[in-house]
Amino acid sequence: MTEGGVAARAGTARPWWLWFAGAMAVVVVATPFIRPSGPRNAAELTAAAVVAPALVLGLRLHRPRYRLGWHVLLAAVIYTVVSNVLWPVLTPGADFLYYTTYPLLGVALAVLPVQGRRSLWFAGYTEAGIIAGGAAVVWWTLLVDPLVLDPGRLPDQAHIVVFPMLDVLLFALALRLLLVAGVRSVAYLLIAAMTFALLTADTAFFVSVVAGGGAPMVSQVSWLLSNTLLGTAALHPSMAVAQPAPGDAETLDGVGGTRVYIVTVVATPILTGIYLLHEAMNGGVNAADIVVPVGATALTSALVVTRMRQINQIARRHAVALQESLSRQEELQGELRHQAQHDSLTGLPNREVLYERITAALAAGSTGALIVADLDGFKDINDRFGHAVGDDLLLAVAGRLLELVPDGSVLARLDSDEFAVVVRDADVVACTRLGERFLSATREPFTVQAHELFATVSLGLRELDPELLTGDVLRDAYLALHAAKAAGRDQLTRWTPALTEEKLAVSRTVERLRGAIERDELVVHYQPLIRLADERMTGVEALIRWQPAGGPMIPPDKFIAAAEDSGLIVPIGTWVLHRACEVVAGWQRLGHPLAASVNVSPRQLREPDFAALVLDALRTSGLPPASLILEITEGVLVASGAVTEQAIRHLETLRARGVRVAIDDFGTGYSSLAYLRDLPIDHVKIDKSFMPSGAGDPALRAMVKAIVDLAAGLRLGTIAEGVETAGQAAFLRELGCERAQGYYYSRPVPAADLLTAFQGRKSVF
Ligand code: C2E
Ligand code: MG
Ligand code: MG
Repeated sequence: MTEGGVAARAGTARPWWLWFAGAMAVVVVATPFIRPSGPRNAAELTAAAVVAPALVLGLRLHRPRYRLGWHVLLAAVIYTVVSNVLWPVLTPGADFLYYTTYPLLGVALAVLPVQGRRSLWFAGYTEAGIIAGGAAVVWWTLLVDPLVLDPGRLPDQAHIVVFPMLDVLLFALALRLLLVAGVRSVAYLLIAAMTFALLTADTAFFVSVVAGGGAPMVSQVSWLLSNTLLGTAALHPSMAVAQPAPGDAETLDGVGGTRVYIVTVVATPILTGIYLLHEAMNGGVNAADIVVPVGATALTSALVVTRMRQINQIARRHAVALQESLSRQEELQGELRHQAQHDSLTGLPNREVLYERITAALAAGSTGALIVADLDGFKDINDRFGHAVGDDLLLAVAGRLLELVPDGSVLARLDSDEFAVVVRDADVVACTRLGERFLSATREPFTVQAHELFATVSLGLRELDPELLTGDVLRDAYLALHAAKAAGRDQLTRWTPALTEEKLAVSRTVERLRGAIERDELVVHYQPLIRLADERMTGVEALIRWQPAGGPMIPPDKFIAAAEDSGLIVPIGTWVLHRACEVVAGWQRLGHPLAASVNVSPRQLREPDFAALVLDALRTSGLPPASLILEITEGVLVASGAVTEQAIRHLETLRARGVRVAIDDFGTGYSSLAYLRDLPIDHVKIDKSFMPSGAGDPALRAMVKAIVDLAAGLRLGTIAEGVETAGQAAFLRELGCERAQGYYYSRPVPAADLLTAFQGRKSVF
């Protein structure tokens, strides 16, 4: 904005209304000292003439958005000035000029509070009517009636009572400006005051005329005052800002609110009553004395009732709205209840519903079974194809299972890829048959988003038994499911007590294993790795054993799985690593340059600090990284996803330092050959199940040869496990297998026995 613009704006901020009010106040105060030259004198004419420019100036200064009312007011003022000029010329009988001013003023006052909003056209009339009606009764009873109806004094100008009557109407309209919530302003207050001043002026004039006089001073001053108030209102800045608050049209809580109505309605009849009593005591009551106050009171009461009806209507509208929102809420609650009981993806009932079904079946003593199903390798599909494909696959699986579920049974979705069905009133054979149908249905490939996916299921079945609790049935079914998974997936396992016993045994093992490191119950045995070319020992594999106090030695097969399940393998594996590194580093210091092979469980590779842990073991033991071989199973590296990526990162870090990696039990797992080329590995350990038992077994021999050739082609070292005979050793040497390990050379032995067992043989690094 330019400086000129700022100056112009500052100019508009001048308080014109104050100046105008001040100047007019001087005129008002001076009026009593000016001798009147007629009923409406020159001072009044001038003052009225000044109001018109004041209105024009106000409109220009404040530029109200809604100006229709103000324009009509301006027209009314100009009309009044013209009437005042013409009055002396046309008199007598020129009063009609004044009458005709009223419709203009009335329209202006009716339009002003509307502010361009339709909803406010009729707002506030009842309230304004009630208040003005009450005031009118008092005004009539105390002021007008005694004069108008006094037959002795009734002059021919009695008709001028019409002016104050019209003023009462104007006053009522002006009250509305103060009653419509949100539009009240100083400007409107001044306009209401103006109508009151008019009423005062015209009433005083009427009283004076009836008494045989002219325009009294009170009227002169009040007319002037009304002009002053109107001009000031137009110049006051609030004339532009009056805007109804949105949505407030119904909250007609005007000045004084309810209290005003009560006072009006109560005071009016009381005052009227007092007056009538007074009249009666003074010799009779005439008809008009009763008709007018009673009529006005009746009008007021009617208006009050109308207002009550309006409030009732508003209340009813609110009640309807409330009813609507209540039923909407009920609907929402229904939806929520459905959501709470159903799975959002498949729309199948959820775990809660399944619980209820199991509980109901048990309570009814029903035969039947709970079958829990879990997709095989679902995580892998999610990782490889993304969750959208995973979701669609779940939908497709749910669809196939649902087709087979008998009537009256419910298929529920438990967790991401877990489903369950409670079959009632069926024997275990029928339930097993249903499970088998699930298995064959899911063996057919699924076509999902143009992918052909294989997703079999594993099933756990638990017969219903009224003696059981719901939680027991679920627990047993899950146990059977895990057994099905462990047994190779894509099959159904029925719960048996043996499963629970096994599980308990594992729990007990875990319990006992928990403190095994602290109690010093773990020991490491070492089995030599022999170079076939010259049958010299190049290294040892560290193999853990558990020696509980007073008990027999427990082989790893009996506790490694439990340690993996419980996570205990992490501290145990770290302990073995440290131990093996220390022992082998000690042998190296004695002049035996052996390498240490240490088994690493997949669970250990999931630890974010695995690589750091290994490097720490090397540093503290002083074993060169090149003397450490980590044995991992192929499953660790074949799956996709973040866990595998982390495992690969660990191995890459360690290989960069010189540590070597061997794939253990090669040939028993996924046997995907592609990963041998891409993954960070150095050696392949051929599983002992490939060792041919005798001269026969040409298939096994062919397989071992294929593995050795493949590894050689990829420049990977080969180690054969489980070599028990000289014949096997000779066969492996013939194939070009580098190293061998097995009972033929030595069983795993305690550290102290290893060197003794190999005394005389020279170790080769
Ligand atoms: P593995 O890593 O494949 O170890 C070779 C297993 O074959 C050892 O069984 C060993 O005693 C056995 N073995 C060696 N030569 C012969 C043979 O000529 N004939 C036969 N039939 N078996 C032979 P062990 O010591 O019972 O260990 C079993 C498995 O336990 C190991 O298989 C390994 O997977 C796991 N394991 C052992 N120690 C640890 C360890 O510290 N950490 C982890 N995570 N797993 C370990
Ligand atoms: Mg091993
Ligand atoms: Mg092995």
